[in-house]
Amino acid sequence: MDFKDQLKASVSIVRIVGDYVKLRRASPGRYAGLCPFHTEKTGSFSVSEDKGFYYCFGCKASGDVFKFVQEIEGVTFFEAMQLLAERHGIPMPKRRDLTDASTELRTALQQMHDLAGQHFQQQLASPAAEAAREYLRKRGLTKRAVEEFAIGYSDPSGNTLLKKLQQAGYSLDQIEKSSLVRKREGGGHYDYFRHRLMFPIHNETGKLIAFGGRSIGDDEPKYLNSSETELYSKKKVLYNLHRAKQAARKSDFTVIVEGYMDVIGVTMAGVGNVVAPCGTALGNDQIKVIRRHSDKVVVNFDPDNAGATATEKSIQVLLDEEMHVRVLALEGGLDPDEFVKANGAEMYQKRLEEAPRYFFWLADRARTRFDDGTAEGRMEGFREVLEPAINRIPDRLERLAVANEIASYLGVDAASIRERFRKQEAVKRVDKPAPNPLAMISDSERTLLKGIFDDAALRQVVLEWLKPHPVLESLPTRGLFRAMIALSEGGATWGFSEMEARLGENDRALLAALILADKASERETEGFTAEQATACLAALDQVWRKQEILRLDTQIKQAERDRDLTLAMQLMQQRKTLERGRWGNTGASS
Ligand SMILES: [Zn+2]
Repeated sequence: MDFKDQLKASVSIVRIVGDYVKLRRASPGRYAGLCPFHTEKTGSFSVSEDKGFYYCFGCKASGDVFKFVQEIEGVTFFEAMQLLAERHGIPMPKRRDLTDASTELRTALQQMHDLAGQHFQQQLASPAAEAAREYLRKRGLTKRAVEEFAIGYSDPSGNTLLKKLQQAGYSLDQIEKSSLVRKREGGGHYDYFRHRLMFPIHNETGKLIAFGGRSIGDDEPKYLNSSETELYSKKKVLYNLHRAKQAARKSDFTVIVEGYMDVIGVTMAGVGNVVAPCGTALGNDQIKVIRRHSDKVVVNFDPDNAGATATEKSIQVLLDEEMHVRVLALEGGLDPDEFVKANGAEMYQKRLEEAPRYFFWLADRARTRFDDGTAEGRMEGFREVLEPAINRIPDRLERLAVANEIASYLGVDAASIRERFRKQEAVKRVDKPAPNPLAMISDSERTLLKGIFDDAALRQVVLEWLKPHPVLESLPTRGLFRAMIALSEGGATWGFSEMEARLGENDRALLAALILADKASERETEGFTAEQATACLAALDQVWRKQEILRLDTQIKQAERDRDLTLAMQLMQQRKTLERGRWGNTGASS
């Protein structure tokens, strides 16, 4: 067993996938949830514990635990291996062939960020950081919060981090690629972050991959973020997700706030399920990440006009990703951090729980933007602010219900609103149920395939029977049976992934469907016996015989029309043999 197989055998795919996707147990050894690779409302995503395999009936994403980590983290195969090994405390063999150039660079970038994080934290204690410490005091950040969120300080000199990274042995080329240091136009290099409060940004697994820097003085911009690197893609990363995801699952909603300080203030007060987009407007990719943990959010942006505009935009994107959206507008013009400091976490929690659905917030917003003293103004507000959002509700009945409720809330004529919506086609596509790849397959085929999968002795017998039988070629599952035959004849290890590796895309889907999603037949194949196998084979044999007889009947009729009696007689004889015989004792072959 090589390292890869060893590692694979010692990790649980359900636990790994479960870190990223909320899974529920669907049947023994099988777990299901919403697919992390496409947007859907009903869970088409399946994970098999014993087969070490995942499959989505919607988008057909499939693979083993390495493939999953690669896809979801956007990393190379080697990194996926590293990540899994690390998480399970299994030392990676230090062989050159276990890495590649891209992995090497990314590992270096990762280490440089760790180093920079420590450097910034140390700097926060330096005399130069007095203004930064003063800012933290003013914002009421405790020592514990500073430590927990590893807040640091970048000094104004513009070269201490550069020196540190060079001392640590990184090449200038690598250092430049980290985006921690920039190349000066006239030559030379300088630290990208200077005289700023530093907030480390982590990826979903908790690795430090970027920084957000807040200026202490009057330097613009107020917030400066790391540029995109091999490690960091702004539009996919959420601040604090690695801490918040467990709490988000438990409470089944995520709070989205605007900034670092909000996240920190709210978290330290004891509300853990809070994240923020970093240096970007909330986008589809970030929502997809949130959605894996819960499809419900409360948007709680700053109460100013920019915050309201951002909220309005976010609602649209959230609805596009089919999220359940509520909006919290805190009273007294407070941002979340200020609110928990003034009123405590309990009150904040209560506000979160009472937060109204987005359309009420939109209706209030429409009121402030359009003249709600006149029927025309209210109608205009409805059309401009609410209608685009309500149009995104995929379900027609719900769309009408919401429109109705809002009409009465806003005081516009409900009948004319209903009329507008009736005329409009749903903008939103509706989830089509995934086609069932099993529809073409007979019960006996299905039972047989599942039954012999885990029974080596029966598999041997069944495959030997099937291999020379002409029925094999007419089965929709012939690809699977052929792969099984090839595997067992080649003396290869028997296993799901070995089998999978031999299949084309369609057969792969078929195999996954058979193994993962077929609840009904689970009972049929429990304790699969030789008698059952024989019965299934006999049924397949019968089906084949019937088809052959039908074929012969047509040929016989043709021969009679052609007055070719010799041929007709021969065909009749074949037909009789088929009718009488059973496969194996007639020698029938055609
Ligand atoms: Zn999918």
